[in-house]
Amino acid sequence: MSILRVDNLTKTYASAGHELTVLQAVSFELQPADTFAIVGPSGSGKTTLLGLCAGLDRATSGSVWLNGIQLDSLSEDQRAAVRNQHVGFIFQNFQLLPTLTALENVLVPLELRGQRGAAKTALALLDRVGLADRAQHYPAQLSGGEQQRVSLARAFANRPAVLFADEPTGNLDPDTSERVVSLLFDLNREAGTTLVLVTHDLDLAARTQRTMRLRGGAVLADYANAAHAQPSA
Ligand code: ADP
Repeated sequence: MSILRVDNLTKTYASAGHELTVLQAVSFELQPADTFAIVGPSGSGKTTLLGLCAGLDRATSGSVWLNGIQLDSLSEDQRAAVRNQHVGFIFQNFQLLPTLTALENVLVPLELRGQRGAAKTALALLDRVGLADRAQHYPAQLSGGEQQRVSLARAFANRPAVLFADEPTGNLDPDTSERVVSLLFDLNREAGTTLVLVTHDLDLAARTQRTMRLRGGAVLADYANAAHAQPSA
């Protein structure tokens, strides 16, 4: 069964009395543990597509199945429940709970699952992303890159079926960027998490198995990346 299936997805916004179609008939299908990059110029619909796939918003027409669940017919609350169970996020503006410390942000999902030794595990995960010394900081006291790494530690705690990342290396210096990318692929290998990355970074896109290029909301190209291509017989 595919982990994410997007079928003929179209999104139209009504703005200033006219309609703006920002996604047109986008289709693709991913299997568990696939790694997938969405690239394209600003305004091409990448973030909109990511939000629809993650159930943050609803398409104008077309369908999204996440882990076998069709999102289109669900209520907002039902979609939130699906997200909580199956999805992780590394988003610029949608990530940590501001009233919880870095440690608590990682700890809460572990405790909710009733995991034994949750506090120790949460601290070990923060250590893994290089932030053990920031455990008691609140998100507002952390830099953007540090917040992203806490989000990654939380994703390691949750082991989501699919992780959606919007420009995961966008504002990071090269060293932090490489660290975040390595951790993303570690999560993919260790937990079988499917990675769906929106990025401007073509080197990062080339490290995934497959890249989809959008332009003006339509799929311009969808191809296997060379490093992952199957050798011909
Ligand atoms: P990208 O991530 O590729 O930069 P977006 O998905 O953010 O592109 O945006 C695609 C287009 O949709 C842009 O033209 C943007 O202005 C428009 N758009 C995004 N959200 C809304 C909205 N809520 N209302 C109207 N237009 C929107």
